[in-house]
Amino acid sequence: MRLRHKPWAQDKLDAHPQYVPQQAETLRGQWQTRFAKEQPIHIEVGSGKGRFIVEMAKRHPEINYISIEIQTSVIVTVLEHQIREDLPNLQILHADGRNLNQYFAPGEVSLVYLNFSDPWPKKKHAKRRLTSPDFLAQYQEILVPEGEIHFKTDNQGLFEYSLASMSQYGLYFKQVWLDLHQSDFPDNVMTEYEEKFSSRGHRIYRMEAKFRK
Ligand code: SAM
Repeated sequence: MRLRHKPWAQDKLDAHPQYVPQQAETLRGQWQTRFAKEQPIHIEVGSGKGRFIVEMAKRHPEINYISIEIQTSVIVTVLEHQIREDLPNLQILHADGRNLNQYFAPGEVSLVYLNFSDPWPKKKHAKRRLTSPDFLAQYQEILVPEGEIHFKTDNQGLFEYSLASMSQYGLYFKQVWLDLHQSDFPDNVMTEYEEKFSSRGHRIYRMEAKFRK
């Protein structure tokens, strides 16, 4: 996601530690203390401006959500939503998804959402894809044994790569959608990118994968 640089963004993140924890590594294994209720934790890696995760947190008060985004100028928009909404089940983690095991203990997370992840189409950049084996290893480490990954994209190449990468890693597919918006999938929550690309006529792919049957 390319965005205007916002030089004030880091100060704004720092000014709201109730939503964006500082020294977040110290929360490893303790994330439940950040929420009003102890309940399953779902994370979104690369949440962009956060439309999806904010709406999910509103619709599902029975789940605790953590929005994870690497770019300061992007994640500050998630914070702006949360300042308005003050959702008790949403926290914001400014971090690189490559290092998830520094922030989460084994089994601390129940579900990982990946939405419209950067495709990194060049082969030499394949390791940066959020569904490449090193990232899958991170998800496996922090997820409960039956944990799931839910992935959406409009990028056919990335989707095909992800199906292959995940099945080679040993994940099972609960369900695969080759045209999500033409399916009967209930209660789809659109992301910013989903809205943009589907309005241009792009087909949306989706999968739900599990580490164990
Ligand atoms: N999920 C949003 C959506 O669907 O509208 C944003 C999609 S955007 C194409 C991908 C986002 O992932 C960008 O905001 C980017 O900064 C973030 N991202 C990429 N690599 C990341 C990483 N290793 N850790 C955390 N965020 C990452």
